[in-house]
Parts: sequence; structure tokens; C-alpha cells
Amino acid sequence: MDQQTAPSITYEFGAIPAGNMFLCTFDNGKWESGSVQPFGNFTLSPFALCFHYGQTVFEGLKAFRQPDGSIGIFRHRDNFHRMNLSLERMGMPDIPYEIWEEGLLGMVKANSAFVPDSSGCLYLRPFVIATEEKLGVKLSSRYLFAIVGCPASDYYTSSLSVKVETTFTRAAKGGVGFAKCGGNYGASFYPFRKAKEEGFDQIIWTDAQEHLYVEESGTMNLAFIVDNELRTPPVSETILDGITRRSILELAAETGLRVNESPVRITDILHAVDQGSPVEAFGVGTAAVIAPFHSISYQGQTYSCYTEKDAQMFKLRHRLKSIQLGLSGDTHNWMTYL
Ligand SMILES: *Cc1c(COP(=O)(O)O)cnc(C)c1O
Repeated sequence: MDQQTAPSITYEFGAIPAGNMFLCTFDNGKWESGSVQPFGNFTLSPFALCFHYGQTVFEGLKAFRQPDGSIGIFRHRDNFHRMNLSLERMGMPDIPYEIWEEGLLGMVKANSAFVPDSSGCLYLRPFVIATEEKLGVKLSSRYLFAIVGCPASDYYTSSLSVKVETTFTRAAKGGVGFAKCGGNYGASFYPFRKAKEEGFDQIIWTDAQEHLYVEESGTMNLAFIVDNELRTPPVSETILDGITRRSILELAAETGLRVNESPVRITDILHAVDQGSPVEAFGVGTAAVIAPFHSISYQGQTYSCYTEKDAQMFKLRHRLKSIQLGLSGDTHNWMTYL
């Protein structure tokens, strides 16, 4: 228990690093023992393979101040498993659980003073990069595993206007869409900028073959609520297995919504809007938990979504936040307390 709590102020997301980081290196076929140390720059050769061939993987998760002053980390074992899936797909060595746990919990403990009160959280960013110094194209033999963090304020997005993307593709079968690798983000900035220039806040990605089935929104998963049914496409090779998505689906089922995980045709959703049904549409991810959409644009037509205060998506967000902040019982065993 640690009563040292950062004051309730608004943090620009990702601007202020927490004071300590965890570093661990992989060499000669194994992970060395890592250590928590003061946050600071590290030195890499310009030849380091991560600068050239994209072997970078990351994770994102949060630690929350609990009412008794302790700290609760949300579902970190799920992030551990996903990180290893991403690492495997990128040809990178997996992280033993002991190193993950020691690094993450040690780093959070050392950063206790950087965990804000319940109006925010400590955002945690584990990542792995290829560090072998070689300009030739090759699989790196050396890696760095780091965990850094930043205090973050509660992130409530105002509702967004989104565009169904039918030109660019985020992920294709056999590709790396399910992996949390830097390259997926690099490839999304140009389509995102074009959507911004057209006046939209975000993109809805569709399948690579027909651009007919929805996949994700920006860097979030995507869900709809229509007629008391929560609809979301199943995770797949092209859809990242979001931990917020997983949590929201469980909570939705508990609150009496039908949960339907099957391919979602964008035209079916827009048809429901045309029929006058209140359609809730939202992104789902660690940063915002739920990001509501007020409108969806498809082939030049704009369709309005339901974003009133009594929308069910906000109840789901509230339930999840209550668990994270220790305001309701952690019956799912999602939290790790320090
Ligand atoms: C991280 C991420 C998500 C959301 O996953 P969470 O575990 O809920 O944060 C969804 N889609 C993509 C592409 C992502 O990178």
C-alpha cells in the first residue's frame, strides 16, 4: 500500500514519462535478467535492425489507484499472451512469464508515485525491438524488451464521425493484422490522414477482399448494439484480439444483452439505421474503453447513430471502469493488486 498519489491534474496523453522503466536484453539465444532503472534515453547503433526492417512489437495496458490506496493492474496476463503471439508472428523470441511479471510488477511498484487518483491511471507500454547491428536483411539475434509508462487522465472522447474505408486495407488473410506490431500502425497513418482531410475523425476498416464486412476502427475493435444485441465480428487473422473487447463482451452478456460474434456487413447495420432503429456504434480499446460514433459515412451517405446518455454502451463502459477502479467486485479475477 502506498498513499503517495499524484495530484488530480490533466495529463496530455503520452507526454510525461513515469520515472522508472524496465529493461531486459536477449542475446546468445536467451533473455538476460532485466532491471528497473530510472527512465532515460538508451543508445542504439544506426545499424540496429529495428530501424530498418520493422521487427517491433508492443502492448498497452493500465494500472489504477484503488480506493484503499493500493494499485490494481487490469488483465496483464492477457497482454502477456498477446505479446507472445505478436512476437511469434514477427519471428521474435517469446518472453518467459517470470520476466514479464517481475518486470511489469516491479516497474509499476517503482512508479507508485506516478499512479494518479481515480480520475486517471498509469498507462503501461511494454515493447520489444530488434537490436542486432546489421544492415543486411536478416532476422535479428538480439532484442530489447522495455516497459515504460506515463500517468494518464481519464480519456473520454466526444462522439466521433467515422468513414467506412473502401480503398485502403488494414489487414489481409495470412498477414499480420492480429499482431500488435509497429508496422500496422505505420501503414494506417496515410489513410487516416486522408480521412481527416475529408472531415472524419476515424476510419472503419473493412475486409480486404470485398470491403463489405467491418473489421476494426482505427486502432480499436468495433461493436454495434442494435435491438438489444451486441454485434461484433469474431477475432481472426485480420482482427486484433482486444482485451477491452473481450471484457465488454462478457459484461454485455451479464447485463442481459445478446452477444453476436459473427461477420458484420456494414450494409446490414446501415439498413437498421434507415429503418429507424437506434443503432449504437463504437470503438473498443484500452485507451478510451469505448469511443462512441455519432455518424457513419459510407459511399458518400451519412448515417446517424444513437449517442444519448442512456445508450447501453455507456453502461458497459461504466461497469468496466468500476471494476478497474475497485468500485465494484472483481468477480472475473481481472485485477492484479499491488
Ligand atoms: C491494441 C489494439 C486494439 C485494442 O486492444 P485492447 O487490448 O483492447 O487495448 C484493437 N485493435 C488494434 C489494431 C490494436 O492495436
